[in-house]
Parts: sequence; C-alpha cells; structure tokens
Amino acid sequence: MPEYAAIHSHILQDVLARLNKTYQDFFRRVTTGHGGQTPGFPRFQGRTRWHSFTYKEYGNGARLDNGFLVLSKVGRVAVRWSRPLAGLPKTVTLSREADGWYVCVSCADVPIQPLAPTGQETGVDVGLETFATLADGTMIHNPRCYRQAERRLKTAQRRVSRRKKGSNRRRKAVRLLAKAHQKVRRQRQDFHYKTACQLVHKYDTIYHEALQVANMLKNHHLAKSIADAGWHAFLSILAFKAACAGKQAVAVPPAYTSQTCSGCGAVVQKGLSVRWHTCPECGTSLHRDHNAAKNIERLGQSLRGEVA
Ligand SMILES: [Zn+2]
Repeated sequence: MPEYAAIHSHILQDVLARLNKTYQDFFRRVTTGHGGQTPGFPRFQGRTRWHSFTYKEYGNGARLDNGFLVLSKVGRVAVRWSRPLAGLPKTVTLSREADGWYVCVSCADVPIQPLAPTGQETGVDVGLETFATLADGTMIHNPRCYRQAERRLKTAQRRVSRRKKGSNRRRKAVRLLAKAHQKVRRQRQDFHYKTACQLVHKYDTIYHEALQVANMLKNHHLAKSIADAGWHAFLSILAFKAACAGKQAVAVPPAYTSQTCSGCGAVVQKGLSVRWHTCPECGTSLHRDHNAAKNIERLGQSLRGEVA
C-alpha cells in the first residue's frame, strides 16, 4: 500500500486498534445480550464518516513547538489554544468538526484542584419534566434554547432532504445541518458543565440513580430516549468534575425511589402521570421528583453506612 507511506505509522496502528475495539465490543454484545436487541455488526465507515486520527505517543510524530503543533507528514500547524496544557502530554488526537479542525491533547498526572469541603450532601433525581430535582426541593430546568434548537434542526434537515443527491446545493445544506447539530451539542454540553460545576461547589457528595443502559435501549419513546442520553452525558461530566474537585458522585440502585414515601418509608404506588406525592400514612405531601431525590439521598447515605 504505497499510499500509506504518506501517513505516520502510529496513526495507522491506531486505526487498527480502533477497529479491534469495535469488534471486541460487538462480540461482547453478542455474548452478554444487548438489552434484548440484536447487536449490529460493525459497518464499513466510508471516508465521509472518519473524522479523527490519533498520534498515540506525544513526541513521536506530534509535538509542540512555540505554541505551534508540529505533525509528522502534515507540517507546522498554528493552533488557537483554549487553555494551557497541564500535566504530561500523552496522546494527540485531531478531529474534524463542522466548523474546522480541533486538537485534543490528553495528559497524565494532571494536578487536581480540590474545592473546600462544605459538609453538605444531596440526592439528585433526573426527570423528563424538569432536568433534575435536588433533595432540598431545588428544581433545575432544561434551558429554553432546546426547543428553539429542535425547530432549527428540523428546518435544516428538511432543506437537506429537498435537495438533489450529489448536488453542490445539497452538500452545502449538509454542512449547515452539521453546524446546527454542533451548536445544539455545545449548548447542551455547556448547560451540563455549568450545572455539574454548581453541584460540585455546593455539595461534597452527590447521590444519583444508576441509569440502566438496557432500559434506555428498550425505550422507544423518542423524547424519553433523548433525555436518557442527556442524563448519561451529564452524569459522566458530574463524575469527572467531582473527581477533579476531590468530591464524590455516587450512583445508587434505582429501586422504589419514586414509590417510597420519604417521610415514613411506606410504599405509595403511583403511575408516571401522577406528579405529586401524597402519603396516606404520614401525610407527607411534596412533588414526586423532590420525594425521589430525598429517597436517593437517604438510600445513598445508608448504603455508605453499611460499607464503612
Ligand atoms: Zn409517609
């Protein structure tokens, strides 16, 4: 393959490593079952679907020189840095997004910056109606921009469908659609980061329900599955932010957290449409999600008590 001579060897090796991972994941899904679904065989990714490549060893093929990125077989590239590098650079990944190329340098031994402990703990219940509810009753709402973004996405998607395949006009529409998706992704990520940051500042330990991936895949209700994906992204950001700040995000098993009364522990059956928790035993009356958040906090604390 003489054309591969123009590519650094580590990039080629990394492509094989990614392919191997894809197959390993596929075989794992075949053996463990995939939430009751048939696992999809890895599909061929054409040149329009391959968006990144990795130099797996910093200093070998990719290095920094005076703020410039020097890439083997590519050259000196000027970079607009979003932040100074911290720690020891390990791998360098370049990826193409809708508005240009990005470089991601992953580093080891990044110094953590612990936040001062506050002595506070809370439980978080994630929901469809409100993004999250805390054990003290605080509700965190989804930003309004989501709705507007959905409309813009729809318009952009329609524009692509209307245009003739293979035409320049369609290619242009595809580019605009990709930009619209990127904007939504960034808005959502921004909201997730800011929310996680607030929680980590205020609480030392944050308990949340463990999301069950199998259930997520089974659910065919679109709005629900999008929200599930959002919480998944949020919880991983929360775990990461907590680790950076020397705090903790703890997942608890999601059993009966919405059905149990947070006041007396009685089980009060209610369907998804019932938004208010009223206990016939002790008279506790509060929002369903608030009740669940209190249960999650208590469950988390009791589970930790058993471990210690
Ligand atoms: Zn009760």
